[in-house]
Amino acid sequence: MKTSSNLVRDCRRYYASELEKIYDSNEANALIMILLEHYFNIDRVKIAMEPELRLSESELLTLHFAVKELLKNKPIQYIIGETEFCGLRFMVEDGVLIPRPETEEMVKNIATCWDKACLVPTGCNVKTMCTSSLPDSILDIGTGSGCIAISLAKLLKDSTVTAVDVSEKALEIAKKNAEANDVNVNFIKDDILNPKNQELIDSQYDIIVSNPPYVCESEKNEMRANVLDYEPSTALFVPDNDPLIFYRKILEFAQKTLKPAGEIWFEINEKFGKEMKNLCFVMGFKNVEILKDFRGKDRILRAIRYNT
Ligand code: GLN
Repeated sequence: MKTSSNLVRDCRRYYASELEKIYDSNEANALIMILLEHYFNIDRVKIAMEPELRLSESELLTLHFAVKELLKNKPIQYIIGETEFCGLRFMVEDGVLIPRPETEEMVKNIATCWDKACLVPTGCNVKTMCTSSLPDSILDIGTGSGCIAISLAKLLKDSTVTAVDVSEKALEIAKKNAEANDVNVNFIKDDILNPKNQELIDSQYDIIVSNPPYVCESEKNEMRANVLDYEPSTALFVPDNDPLIFYRKILEFAQKTLKPAGEIWFEINEKFGKEMKNLCFVMGFKNVEILKDFRGKDRILRAIRYNT
């Protein structure tokens, strides 16, 4: 790979054309802009205003290696080590799932549902509104980078937020993210399929939220290499013969730990909307609603625990 000069506009054009080997042209250009902005604080305006702007040899090398990684399908978020979620910065590394826009939609729905004064740029789409008082305690199961727990702690300021994950690596990153975003989250290491942590089991929550693994092994062939080759499979996949395993276990856990009239919020596989609704009813939850994500797919489920 070689660019014709160190001028930023030449580098930009050259590396975008390299990326077009595997990305479409819009995506290729957007990726280059993300790299230029992240590493050198150069944006479109700066390029337009300073046509003679050049990269140093070491800057060029940085760009070169980042593009090389992109050409190996590595997600840009892992290359630059961060991503944005609910207007906050989150550090991400191999070993934690990259936060998704549909998860952000779920968080915004929860926040606006509970706090009518909450300043997030979306309304809540559920028909049966939540109780008017703010939630005292929230539990996020399978927190990964901590994006759900940390954003809720930020948006619903007076709530106590607990987050659990089975992965030590995820918890390490989530803790750093909580610190960087200046919120308190109580992190617990445990496996929700077989929970043992006394504090986790003995507490009572107003909201339990989870984006558990929900992609069937058989769906792997529909997935892109950037997800398959780089993101943690334990955060993504479930066996075809028991695709709702996490939801069942979480609902069992919620039967004991959710306060009466408390709420469960799930991100779900769009293929299992009906099954999920049914599972919630069978396991004693009411007002089960499914919301569509921005792609029009069944993605977010909200259910309420009976009062008794
Ligand atoms: N939405 C994610 C994806 O499609 C899956 C997240 C999950 O399994 N919880 O990659």
